[in-house]
Amino acid sequence: MTHKVLVVEDEPALVDTLEYNLLKQGYEVVIAMDGAKALDMARRERPDVVVLDIMLPVMDGFEVCRILRQETNVPILMLTARTDEVDKIVGLEVGADDYLSKPFSMRELMARVKALLRRVRLAREEANEQAAEKRDAALRQETLVFGDLTIDLNRREVSCKGQAQHLKPKEFDLLVFLARNRGIVLSRDLVLERVWGWDYDGGSRTVDVHVRWLREKIEQDPSRPVRIVTVRGVGYRFEG
Ligand code: CA
Repeated sequence: MTHKVLVVEDEPALVDTLEYNLLKQGYEVVIAMDGAKALDMARRERPDVVVLDIMLPVMDGFEVCRILRQETNVPILMLTARTDEVDKIVGLEVGADDYLSKPFSMRELMARVKALLRRVRLAREEANEQAAEKRDAALRQETLVFGDLTIDLNRREVSCKGQAQHLKPKEFDLLVFLARNRGIVLSRDLVLERVWGWDYDGGSRTVDVHVRWLREKIEQDPSRPVRIVTVRGVGYRFEG
């Protein structure tokens, strides 16, 4: 991926040198030669890093830096010609990420630019990781709880009577379907269609058999079920 560097400098010779060396390193380069143009360019070109001189026409580098900082997190490397400028960068917290005193070697400038880009990349990766962790945590919370019965939808795990119950895939799907329709009478045909699908060619006895297996696992007394209740002549109702 090519990174774009905005060079803000009003000395043509230095602009040429910077451009030449940045291009040679494989960067894309955009140039602004005064402070106002620098803001325009930054907004339009969305550079990955800004190399910003302080002594500039129209608006100085401090002002440009201060405004840019309010608008974006783009890393800013300031170029200073005087010691009192360094004091100002460090002391006034203009928001620059790094600075380099003139005269500097191109090798040094390239190293600083590279370091800034690396810092941004790491920060971005960290932010992505945190977002992913947050998402996972939210998913993990997708759990149905009915008294001592817990159904973890993402891990497809069920615990009851204080211990993990090993459900076959269809038993799990059936339990989730029943639980999500708690309190509603569900016909065998509907259950069959929703849990086993249209193309299933077994009879509705399949539902009865799976309900019996489920009861063994989630009822205190499977012969007198209170969670999955039989509705005579129709089907079942989940009571929770
Ligand atoms: Ca200058």
